[in-house]
Amino acid sequence: MYLFMGNDEDLEKLDELIKEEEKKSPAKKVLVCPVCNSTDVVYYIGGELGYQYRCKNCGYTGAFILEK
Ligand SMILES: [Zn+2]
Repeated sequence: MYLFMGNDEDLEKLDELIKEEEKKSPAKKVLVCPVCNSTDVVYYIGGELGYQYRCKNCGYTGAFILEK
């Protein structure tokens, strides 16, 4: 019985930690073009190639992108 209570407390603490992390984490990463360092980068759906990125500034399109 004591052990069960201990586990419940641990789970509650874990829940709280997860909720705290969710509050903190809407930090969206900024995408940066690897060619011209512009942050004017958008997701670009590449069909069979999977999703890629596209730079509006220089026209770069590819799966490789930098993040700030
Ligand atoms: Zn660019």
